[in-house]
Amino acid sequence: MPTTVVTGGAGFLGSHLCERLLAAGHKVWCLDNLDTGSLTNIAHLRDDNFSFVQHDVTTHIEIPGDVDFVFHFASPASPIDYLRLPLQTLKVGSYGTHNALGLAKAKRARFLTASTREVYGDPQIHPQPESNRGNVNPIGPRGVYDEAKRYAEAMTMAYHRQQGVDTAIVRIFNTYGPRMRAFDGRAIPTFVRQALENKPITVFGTGAQTRSFCYVDDLITGIIALAFSTEHEPVNIGNPEEFTLLELAEMVVELTGSSSEIVFEALPVNDPQQRRPDITRATELLGWGPTVQLRDGLTRLLDQSSRAELTGRIVGA
Ligand code: NAD
Repeated sequence: MPTTVVTGGAGFLGSHLCERLLAAGHKVWCLDNLDTGSLTNIAHLRDDNFSFVQHDVTTHIEIPGDVDFVFHFASPASPIDYLRLPLQTLKVGSYGTHNALGLAKAKRARFLTASTREVYGDPQIHPQPESNRGNVNPIGPRGVYDEAKRYAEAMTMAYHRQQGVDTAIVRIFNTYGPRMRAFDGRAIPTFVRQALENKPITVFGTGAQTRSFCYVDDLITGIIALAFSTEHEPVNIGNPEEFTLLELAEMVVELTGSSSEIVFEALPVNDPQQRRPDITRATELLGWGPTVQLRDGLTRLLDQSSRAELTGRIVGA
């Protein structure tokens, strides 16, 4: 039975990853300081093979026994969180990544770090291949997240090249699904919450900026395939189907049968205009591609979540 450590395992993506790993027969250590995650996300994972440890990974990590995989997912991830927690975001990308890599080195485990399409910043190439070096403003408010993730990638490659650690880097594009927080500020949970409460749907700018949205089950399948591969260079995982934020808002209104009107608000600073992954590498190296289209994924999200979760009216949501 493989033993796997998931940092940030009580978060949105980490909890889905823990769930999938347990189902695949792994023994899972979930480490989380609960800064932006919640015990509610892992309450259903009562299993002899599942251990939760409340731990801040910016400090030394100690796990007894053998470890085969380390998945490093700990980090504030939504703009609302990393703008509120700028120093924690920089620390978990730097010290946290260092400690998680140190654990992987000590245990001779395969290490996979959750990077992000934000390393491309406001991209000048569309769609974005992994070879794109990015257009990031290091001193803008979002720099704390973008640069932490770029540093984490640099440290991961240094541990691979100089220390011989078996490493992988996934660049995650916008992902959605059950257990996103209703108030995390990202477009899908915000629009769904507003639509269910028949409140105005707040679209930034003209809503012409595009995003691609990957359903969480597809993302986790891609990440596990990458972990089990021998690849070391970054791999984009995301759904290349592109929608404008206005199209997304209209789809959410339709699927929820809401009477909400769509209103337009000022664009946040350095908000990227367009985002779409080039997934050629994921397809060629891993045989991976998304299977859930946006309309189906939104329907699943609405079916699999309670109204209280989607409107943020329960503790931990
Ligand atoms: P999340 O906020 O739900 O999960 C992050 C988890 O990390 C939380 O449970 C939080 O408590 C934990 N954490 C933060 N700092 C910690 C620390 N110092 N020690 C221990 N735990 C800590 O966010 P998410 O959406 O699940 O994102 C998970 C990872 O995936 C992040 O690294 C994020 O950057 C990356 N990512 C996510 C997306 C997305 O669309 N959700 C896109 C790109 C990258």
